[in-house]
Amino acid sequence: MTSIAIVGGGPAGYEAALVAAQLGADVTLVEPEGLGGACVLYDCVPSKTLIATSETMTSFRGAPALGVRPPGGPDGEVSVEAAVVNRRVKDLAAWQSEDVWQRLSTEGVRMLTGRGRFPAEQPGRSRRVEVVDATGRVTETVEADVVLLATGATPRVLPDAVPDGERILTWRQVYDLTELPEHLVVIGSGVTGAEFASAYLEMGVRVTLVSSRVRVLPGEDTDAADVIEEVFAEHGGEIVKRARAASVVRTEKGVLVTMEDGRTVEGSHALMTVGSVPNTEGLALDAVGTGFAFVLYAMLEGLGLPMADYERVPVGATPDRWQSVKDGTHAGTITIEPFTSIARAAGFRVLRQSTEAFPAYQGGIVAVRQSWAERNAERVKAFIRGYLKGLDWTLAPKNRAEAAALLLARMPEIKPGVVDKVLASVLSPRSGLTPRGEILRNGMKTVLDLRSRYGSPQKSLAGIDKYLALSFYQDVVG
Ligand SMILES: Cc1cc2nc3c(=O)[nH]c(=O)nc-3n(C[C@H](O)[C@H](O)[C@H](O)COP(=O)(O)OP(=O)(O)OC[C@H]3O[C@@H](n4cnc5c(N)ncnc54)[C@H](O)[C@@H]3O)c2cc1C
Repeated sequence: MTSIAIVGGGPAGYEAALVAAQLGADVTLVEPEGLGGACVLYDCVPSKTLIATSETMTSFRGAPALGVRPPGGPDGEVSVEAAVVNRRVKDLAAWQSEDVWQRLSTEGVRMLTGRGRFPAEQPGRSRRVEVVDATGRVTETVEADVVLLATGATPRVLPDAVPDGERILTWRQVYDLTELPEHLVVIGSGVTGAEFASAYLEMGVRVTLVSSRVRVLPGEDTDAADVIEEVFAEHGGEIVKRARAASVVRTEKGVLVTMEDGRTVEGSHALMTVGSVPNTEGLALDAVGTGFAFVLYAMLEGLGLPMADYERVPVGATPDRWQSVKDGTHAGTITIEPFTSIARAAGFRVLRQSTEAFPAYQGGIVAVRQSWAERNAERVKAFIRGYLKGLDWTLAPKNRAEAAALLLARMPEIKPGVVDKVLASVLSPRSGLTPRGEILRNGMKTVLDLRSRYGSPQKSLAGIDKYLALSFYQDVVG
């Protein structure tokens, strides 16, 4: 029987768990918060419940035109009780989470409470996942043939607009308000921002929507976006366009939002809807037993520091590791761009670069099982085509300014003074993206050599052709 460990109990995790259990697998699901995940507890279900209240308010407002007299007469005031709405939101979320738990339990899925992470040592062909409780203690270790990571995402936090749960809020904190805001400034006009802005407006709150683009809902149908803007304006909402928020701070009465171009908006509360970041922190995907870590060990050994002379600690992905060195929690780490340039700019010493230590290294790789690739040949080729198109665009000198702007917008850690250095490194044929996405055969040999030297269980790996199927790539490039 195939054993599957699923990390994360949102729709991705619990749906997969149900299907796998129905197909006869032995399924373990690890989740720290509640079944149903962020979707049920904080995102889709709560926001749709809030919208149900706002739609009722809209119906009441339109009622007199339909000949229906609202309670209190045609001019009678209809108002929303925030505490009641928020109680209902939380109750519905909790009930739905309980339903998901019941369903999984009936299907025989083993559910463990805690955070999942990969320990440093992996047993070979199966995979080991540790379950860690809120105090950081490992409560259980699961071994499975397959691990599914379904850890979802968390609201993105801008460095100068940190939510405090009282006036500066993420969309997950609005349900703790006991009263409706007087004037809500919603920052970010994607689907989440537009949804909350409309819902609060309909509930009678003054709303200002800050949009970094010319139109709300970038990436969606423009006709739909136009209609949403029109209705929003008709109902008294204000939109500040081409406005990228640089900071949000508390004032005596509420909040002050300052845009990058100096414009300001004041309100009683700010709701940050500026996207999400993946929950990869603490999963130890870049654990001490990965190929990436082997590069570090070989470099340190080359500098005269053998493995026995230092302690290796799994911390997490590159941003987490850089943060731990920046905070002084750990003495050193291996980074990739943009963190190498950021670290250098912050005065940290780069001991060695992998390009100095190895003649070649195949760093970036997207791998699938050969049998899967053969069954999905057209999809694999479409992926390669798309990747190469993106690569060509990124490497073309004429797109450099736009690439820099995209990097700055998407990765707030990169400050404008460092972006050129980051791009130079990423675009360098020696240290960065390989033109035409070609596989570096001697780079792959380095990968196998390092794995043979440091990998566990110890095994000598040779013959790179065993790991390569270039026919898909060749079909695409001709
Ligand atoms: C405001 C809002 C409204 C939305 N409305 C809709 C909608 O109406 N319809 C729709 O289809 N989509 C909607 N979405 C999108 C939807 O929420 C996501 O697509 C969905 O939640 C993704 O499911 P998931 O299982 O990948 O992640 P999540 O639902 O985020 O679940 C991930 C789970 O993993 C857990 N986890 C994280 N790290 C670990 C770890 N190390 N170990 C174990 N568990 C871990 C988390 O606690 C969480 O429970 C909305 C999103 C937002 C923000």
